[in-house]
Amino acid sequence: MEILAFGVQADEKPLMEKAFAGHHDVRCLSVFLTEDTAPIAAGYEIVSTSVNASLDHRVLQTLAAGGTQMIAQRSTGFNNIDLEVAERLGLTVARVSYYSPYSVAEFAWTLALAVNRRIVRASNRTRDFDFRLDGLMGRDLRGRTVGVLGTGKIGEAFTRIAHGFGMNLLGWDVAENPACVDLGMKYVEKERLLAEADLVSLHVPLLPSTRHLIDAAALRSMKDDAILVNSSRGGLIDTEALVAELRAGRFAGVGLDVYEAEAGLFFLDKSLEVVEDDTLARLVTFPNVVVTSHQAYYTEDAVGQIIDTTVRNVLDYTAGRRSENVLVPRVS
Ligand code: NAD
Repeated sequence: MEILAFGVQADEKPLMEKAFAGHHDVRCLSVFLTEDTAPIAAGYEIVSTSVNASLDHRVLQTLAAGGTQMIAQRSTGFNNIDLEVAERLGLTVARVSYYSPYSVAEFAWTLALAVNRRIVRASNRTRDFDFRLDGLMGRDLRGRTVGVLGTGKIGEAFTRIAHGFGMNLLGWDVAENPACVDLGMKYVEKERLLAEADLVSLHVPLLPSTRHLIDAAALRSMKDDAILVNSSRGGLIDTEALVAELRAGRFAGVGLDVYEAEAGLFFLDKSLEVVEDDTLARLVTFPNVVVTSHQAYYTEDAVGQIIDTTVRNVLDYTAGRRSENVLVPRVS
């Protein structure tokens, strides 16, 4: 059988082809799955999609009408998939429920450290042979307080690194993680975490209940000189409200690997086009903000695991085996 894979980065293509070799052929497309590209999938029983595919009801209907029966999503998060519609259309959707949480946790720290120590600005200066230190002062992390919203696999890996820095650990989650408690994490209400933390890092999934978890009120309740890092999903932050706080001169640094309107932008080269997104355009002008384009997962290790699991999900489906990676609709 030939599988159609959307949104495959150039680095990933040889890895995909190697992993599927001996099982199925795979046709790798660099374009993402959207309403416009969905018709390409006609005749493909199995389609593999990437994190920014928009699997809404229209796209799912087009896929089902074209004969697709299985979607192998190459990510952990699945907020981009309308699972109820998929179920109604009889589509099997599988995701990658686990891959190296260290890829994302280490990247969240990369952003936190970059904004704290003004690395991007410093690097830009030295390229210009400007070796002054003005404006580059950061803060020691040791003894400061980190607030981790979501202490699952990635939140725990992030917390272990925070522990290594000698930070005080505050956590917020619907369920306490005993490994984090063992590291000394204190679970508190979100309001207290936001008010006390010097660094806030987001690691909860995007659900209806977590959309704009960091809204205008939450942002206002944070310390003026706090650092905010989001490597989870853009929709967790009300970006307009964040821009308003940044305009007021607040926050020592903000590191964003995700952005709520990233679909149609991130992973693509838009450098020669007129910028349509005024919010993002404003966001990247702040000297204390670093934005990256959803690359936290992008390590050899994590991508290799994502592809291996995707192949396994496809083989489970074709063999009619049950898999815990198959998604079913839920209500939260
Ligand atoms: P996980 O399921 O192991 O952990 C999520 C945690 O959030 C759990 O402890 C859960 O109890 C908690 N949680 C869920 N709903 C909650 C709610 N309503 N309120 C409070 N806590 C809640 O997931 P993970 O592997 O740690 O991944 C976390 C998120 O990271 C993913 O959902 C995904 O959005 C994001 N992610 C981003 C990238 C990237 O490249 N930027 C890559 C992978 C994952």
